[in-house]
Amino acid sequence: MPRNVYTEDHEAFRASVREFVERTLKPRAEEMLQSKVIPRDIWKEAGRQGLFGLDIPEEFGGAGADDYRFNAIAAEELSAFNAAVSSCFGIHSDVCPPYLVDLGTQEQKQKWLPGMAAGELICSIGMTEPSGGSDLAGLKTTGVRDGDDWIINGSKTFITNGNQCDLAIVAVRTDPTKGAKGITLFMLEKDMPGFTKGNKLDKVGQIESDTSELFFDNVRVPDANRIGEEGMGFIAMMQRLPQERIGAGVSNVAHAKQILAETIEYTKERKAFGQAIGSFQHNKFKIAELVTQIEVAEAYVDDCIAAHAEGKLSPVDAAKAKWFSAEVQNKVLDECVQLHGGYGFMNEYRVARAWRDARVTKIWAGSNEIMKELIGRDLGL
Ligand SMILES: Cc1cc2nc3c(=O)[nH]c(=O)nc-3n(C[C@H](O)[C@H](O)[C@H](O)COP(=O)(O)OP(=O)(O)OC[C@H]3O[C@@H](n4cnc5c(N)ncnc54)[C@H](O)[C@@H]3O)c2cc1C
Repeated sequence: MPRNVYTEDHEAFRASVREFVERTLKPRAEEMLQSKVIPRDIWKEAGRQGLFGLDIPEEFGGAGADDYRFNAIAAEELSAFNAAVSSCFGIHSDVCPPYLVDLGTQEQKQKWLPGMAAGELICSIGMTEPSGGSDLAGLKTTGVRDGDDWIINGSKTFITNGNQCDLAIVAVRTDPTKGAKGITLFMLEKDMPGFTKGNKLDKVGQIESDTSELFFDNVRVPDANRIGEEGMGFIAMMQRLPQERIGAGVSNVAHAKQILAETIEYTKERKAFGQAIGSFQHNKFKIAELVTQIEVAEAYVDDCIAAHAEGKLSPVDAAKAKWFSAEVQNKVLDECVQLHGGYGFMNEYRVARAWRDARVTKIWAGSNEIMKELIGRDLGL
């Protein structure tokens, strides 16, 4: 199916991202896997290549592209290389900046956005807590007003870029009596006394990404670091989660599509019983099904990309794209492992890494169950 969501400008940008992947990321893939982190110089190089400033206005060091299709191109190319790099960069450049661009004061924008666009200030976002992530309105980290400051106590877990981050957008309960309307967002800076980071968590997949706990022990945060109005944090997150979820959808499809393409090549070369394994009717039909599933998922995700670029993507459609693409991605990659036989279970094979990297996409950014809950509610159920 020809895709018609992108124009020549987007494809030109794709070529530059692809070049960045070839030149900067691919030669360092093994290093990132061993060190379990994306080195700082790679963040800065990505910043120089303009990967982080797409949502940031030019006056604050970004490209001010104001067209989500460029973000989607970056997510596709990074995911085709590696899911972990795509998720770390995505949180930093796709998920965090809109909070500052849309809700930040002029001072906040001047202070943080240029460094974020340059890849010099790495940003994370802390919503999930050890006691639960699905029930975001039930979060327990507290913020108590003290003059011009807030005193923040609590913790967050599973935070992407958590160990490396210079900045963390943190959701805090500032009014214990108001449920979802008692949540406020703050920007925490890495050197604030009482703000500490846990070790990098030992994950099953996406080994290269840094996922950590964040701890807040009487952290004194100036009111000047409050993002948006007091009590409006939950609404701010709900309004911006569709971009995180369509980003997940784009990445899920691109990741599985690339590994499927590599698997098809493998099935043409690998022989059993004197013939290419892809030529057995069972495998041929299986691959036909997988290609179809990817293209059908991609068509829906493309429609969501186009809608989001026009500011028309609904949270429910983003939820559909997120859970469905995660399901397809995981099914496709499981079959790709099968088609590789024993080699598919070996860590040195990309297909094995991709398979374990994909498992989390049904859990994070709102689990598939929560996505279906949102869709069901919208149906009046
Ligand atoms: C690698 C990784 C990176 C992450 N990065 C970030 C990050 O950068 N920032 C951040 O804030 N969070 C991050 N998360 C957290 C992620 O968003 C949460 O793990 C997720 O939202 C689920 O929350 P939970 O783990 O507390 O599970 P729980 O909320 O405890 O849920 C457990 C199970 O119960 C199900 N469940 C819960 N409620 C319902 C319901 N109403 N109906 C049906 N089923 C339900 C869930 O679907 C799940 O299957 C990350 C997680 C991982 C693993």
